[in-house]
Amino acid sequence: MADTDHGITADAVRQALSDIALPENGTLAGSSRLTGITVEPGGRISFAITIAPEEAETFATIRSAAETAIRSLAGATQVLVVLTAERDAAATAPRPAPKPEPKAAGKAPLLPDVAHVVAVASGKGGVGKSTTAINIALGLRALGLKVGILDADIYGPSLPTLLGLRGSPQVGPDRRLKPLQAHGLAAMSIGFLVDEETAMVWRGPMVMSAITQMLAEVDWGTLDVLMVDMPPGTGDAQLAIAQGVPLAGAVIVSTPQDLALIDARRGIAMFRKVDVPIIGLIENMAHFVCPDCGAGHDIFGSGGTAAAAGRLGVPFLGAIPLTIELRTASDLGRPITALSPDSELGLKYQELATSVLRHLEGRT
Ligand code: ADP
Repeated sequence: MADTDHGITADAVRQALSDIALPENGTLAGSSRLTGITVEPGGRISFAITIAPEEAETFATIRSAAETAIRSLAGATQVLVVLTAERDAAATAPRPAPKPEPKAAGKAPLLPDVAHVVAVASGKGGVGKSTTAINIALGLRALGLKVGILDADIYGPSLPTLLGLRGSPQVGPDRRLKPLQAHGLAAMSIGFLVDEETAMVWRGPMVMSAITQMLAEVDWGTLDVLMVDMPPGTGDAQLAIAQGVPLAGAVIVSTPQDLALIDARRGIAMFRKVDVPIIGLIENMAHFVCPDCGAGHDIFGSGGTAAAAGRLGVPFLGAIPLTIELRTASDLGRPITALSPDSELGLKYQELATSVLRHLEGRT
């Protein structure tokens, strides 16, 4: 690892971990449990500690001791230490899919000051999940709620772009990270913490560990709703989140094409498997609104998502058209619901937010 502006090397990180004792004797610095030390410009440091699943509790303390040790290195600005319960793939026999566990029975709640955690998910990438999550979050905010948004899309964090947010989260006196603020939302993204390439290689358990830290070690304050922008798809990482985060419900975003709907069905099945209620299905890019003549064109046919929702027995929350206005506003970091709350689209998202709130209040 080359020296950069902050002067920290991977060796210096290792050295700083030489006082962290392990239960099997020896220290973290000299252990093969320590992997993936990454030092990025600006003093952003991340690494993983490999554990067996049953060691999670013991290693929670070790993880936080490791984090404290690294934070005290001169030049370290951000530290992310993830516990990964996955051993070397070659040494691991294929595992059966994790079984759903009863929700956090007897354990301290992960987010005691957050009233509702809502997942926004999609069966595949690029369907507008993040755009929908942000605009619904803003809609809820406009309804007077305190709202946060967590970008759990570890492999393709888009929240920094969509909210026009740059900069690094501050560390509070309690050592917890402060979320950034944009358009009245508290926001946290893996994109604020590590480089995109760093997270690209993380596998399921590391993703879950990083997300748990973004939930528990971020000072979210008191929130009515925390929206979680899920990683697209229905693999191990998504299942782990659906199972590990205390979700009040999930919103599924799909485009009208059949293919995307098949993926959306998988998403619904995944949440059902772990007993997370489906708040409803949203059709995004439903029809194309021509910027010149204002006419709508049903390029992929119409009504497919509503019909699919009916067949699947989940509520259909509404459809958002494909518009250039929405694309431009999102990619400039000025979400349409913040920019023009009274526009047709702004009101549409407001309606979706109202449906989500009704569900959360048990009024559906
Ligand atoms: P995902 O989170 O599913 O990967 P994003 O929300 O990042 O998708 O959206 C992917 C791209 O599509 C972005 O450039 C976004 O601005 C654009 N987009 C999303 N929804 C719409 C829409 N309804 N109309 C036009 N562009 C959209």
